[in-house]
Amino acid sequence: MKIAILSRNRRLYSTRRLVEAAEERGHKVRVIDILRCYMNIASHKPMVYYRGEALEDFDAVIPRIGASVTFYGAAVLRQFEMMGVFPLNESVALTRSRDKLRSLQLLSRRGIGLPVTGFASKPDDVEHVISLVGGAPVVVKLLEGTQGIGVVLAETQKAAESVIEGFMGLKANILVQEFIKEAGGADIRCLVVGGKVVAAMKRQGAPGEFRSNLHRGGSANTVKITPEERSTAVRAASIMGLNVAGVDMLRANHGPVVMEVNSSPGLEGIESSSGKDVAGMIIKFIEDEGKKGKTATRGKG
Ligand code: ADP
Ligand code: MG
Repeated sequence: MKIAILSRNRRLYSTRRLVEAAEERGHKVRVIDILRCYMNIASHKPMVYYRGEALEDFDAVIPRIGASVTFYGAAVLRQFEMMGVFPLNESVALTRSRDKLRSLQLLSRRGIGLPVTGFASKPDDVEHVISLVGGAPVVVKLLEGTQGIGVVLAETQKAAESVIEGFMGLKANILVQEFIKEAGGADIRCLVVGGKVVAAMKRQGAPGEFRSNLHRGGSANTVKITPEERSTAVRAASIMGLNVAGVDMLRANHGPVVMEVNSSPGLEGIESSSGKDVAGMIIKFIEDEGKKGKTATRGKG
């Protein structure tokens, strides 16, 4: 097969591993910098161009689109879909997953366990929003945050009010969430490929840190997940419409609660902690499922 990887940097671990796995399995693979792509949307024959060259004949495209380039990246991916190229994850699913609030609404509608979450846009309702999620301590999150930046634990009512008012004063979109204390600064990342959890890890935040992000000094270890965690991860990926997803959950007293579903999950932590060839499984999924024009939406919607 001829596979395109949409990534800004071919030296990134996940990109390198996907190239390696694809070549090992006998495929032709090219890393394409999305920001260098341009397109002809008006014509009858949609095409993506790259440094003067038409990107034709690809069978599959793997989006590895960073949060900061979601908008343009999704447009390039959509164009590939219009050309009939099989996307590992579809553009519609990708943009869905990048909006935390939209994701939580979709998941809650289908009965997935979530931390109790509030959302507001005007500061006059702050007290009520905090009480809606059970009162302090609460976690306040910037909707556009990643890698733990913009996630704040407010331990008292007063702290919560001032953090929320501060963020709102900056016109930032935020959500307010019940603090799952019993998670103990750890979360579970399940890597879902084609409707199966192929690897899982437990990330533990550094001492004194409630955020378990590896970028914030957390450490990753293998973990045995429960059947409920497994089915929650698979269902969450499917509700989001993602073939490949990193589903992050907290272990709450009443069972797993999903925090977010990542559409370009990093492979380094999960491959090194689990010892599994996740990149190889992703390429194998493309071999099995990557038929021309096979998408749920073909970029529509
Ligand atoms: P980001 O997108 O920046 O990674 P997350 O929502 O995943 O933001 O939050 C970062 C980390 O903070 C999580 O991995 C988790 O360890 C911790 N965390 C987030 N929300 C909660 C919560 N409601 N209760 C307890 N810990 C939380
Ligand atoms: Mg996270």
